[in-house]
Amino acid sequence: MALIVQKYGGTSMGSIDRIKNVAKRVKRWHENGHQIVVVVSAMSGETNRLIDLARQISSQPDPREYDQMVSTGEQVSISLLAMAIKDLGIGARSFTGGQVAIKTDTSFNKARIQSIDDQKIRAQLDAGNVVIVAGFQGVDEEGNITTLGRGGSDTTGVALAAALGADECQIYTDVDGVYTTDPRVTPKAKKLSKITFEEMLEMASLGSKVLQIRSVEFAGKYQVPLRVLSSFDESNDGSFDEHFKQNVGTLITIDEGDNMEQAIISGIAFNRDEAKVVVRGVPDHPGIASAILSPIGNANIEVDMIVQNISTNGTTDFSFTVNRPDLDKALAVLNNEVKDEINAKEVIGNDNVVKISLVGVGMRSHAGVASLMFQTLAENNINIQMISTSEIKVSVLIQEQHLEKAVKFLHTAFGLDRQDGASKVAGV
Ligand code: ADP
Ligand code: ASP
Ligand code: MG
Repeated sequence: MALIVQKYGGTSMGSIDRIKNVAKRVKRWHENGHQIVVVVSAMSGETNRLIDLARQISSQPDPREYDQMVSTGEQVSISLLAMAIKDLGIGARSFTGGQVAIKTDTSFNKARIQSIDDQKIRAQLDAGNVVIVAGFQGVDEEGNITTLGRGGSDTTGVALAAALGADECQIYTDVDGVYTTDPRVTPKAKKLSKITFEEMLEMASLGSKVLQIRSVEFAGKYQVPLRVLSSFDESNDGSFDEHFKQNVGTLITIDEGDNMEQAIISGIAFNRDEAKVVVRGVPDHPGIASAILSPIGNANIEVDMIVQNISTNGTTDFSFTVNRPDLDKALAVLNNEVKDEINAKEVIGNDNVVKISLVGVGMRSHAGVASLMFQTLAENNINIQMISTSEIKVSVLIQEQHLEKAVKFLHTAFGLDRQDGASKVAGV
């Protein structure tokens, strides 16, 4: 008997039929003798609908009230799933985050889980029930409802698996695993049977939304066995046997030696949520970077890539990227607080950019990854605006219109293309 945490995302819970299918899958696992904790997202589109309602009321909704409201989507789906499972003759009970004491800090909209009281869940499991927990939400010390950021149900799933010492946390979604790149961008994307935590963290941080970043951090920290797999594939029969462990979905693992068929790069991530800011004609002397970036930091704006050009005639251009929704705020800060102070010529914003990144632990021991990347883009007339690198990734900023083309060319150039069949992407 294993204790398994299964998380089902929005598409997997997207209709009454889909919810009934989830119930059938949970039943198969339960009938095979496993203890099952299920974490669910809101039905697909519901969280966006709720956010839109809040925005129609206020351009900057009160964070506490926002969480109070946006968390309701999950409350609907836990109870619908509990009803569906009970109708199949299995004991089931649903709980909100607060009801199973998922305690978080008070940062509304992006709260962090601090503790979970596993006793109530264990008592239900011991009584033979399936436990269904609302993803994405918790409560702070004062009992206010908090939410964990978009995609936060993944983190609820992993945190519960860690708290319960689960044998595995299974993230059921609308693709059958983690691919070399988003399979919606190229049908040549290959499913990976394994990926290291380190690489998965990098992929998630660089824009692959298949797993929320914090869920991967959590899984790495608490060594939670984590698997991404499809809720649309009916072939798995609910037995947690060797065949399942070896073949189904993608396992996120600590084992570097066994990684990704020894590829130099494991995947290509991209992020459309980028915008570039250029401060032109700034005097090139010490203190300029800090004069530009300190007010940006004080305004709580995250900065990602940074480039300072070689100076000509004593002046230089200083460029950096921010999250796209922060662009207007960043431009306002620079125009109001910085431009005249440092004698800059002008401040320009550009939200027509994307970041593409190659990720792989194999890069550590292989020179030339960056040069093949730059060469491939150059051959295809794609201009690189910014570059940043680390031990296991190379990122470039390019014009958004070239995104799909660039991903496809790089995927081929780095030998990642699949040789057969097609990826299993629901709805494509
Ligand atoms: P859920 O609603 O189940 O949480 P998400 O939409 O959050 O699902 O995540 C699944 C999606 O992630 C897929 O449909 C796919 O388009 C996207 N995705 C991005 N990068 C990758 C990748 N490297 N491998 C697999 N899926 C990816
Ligand atoms: N429903 C939330 C969202 O759409 C959380 C999740 O699905 O993981 O972001
Ligand atoms: Mg998700």
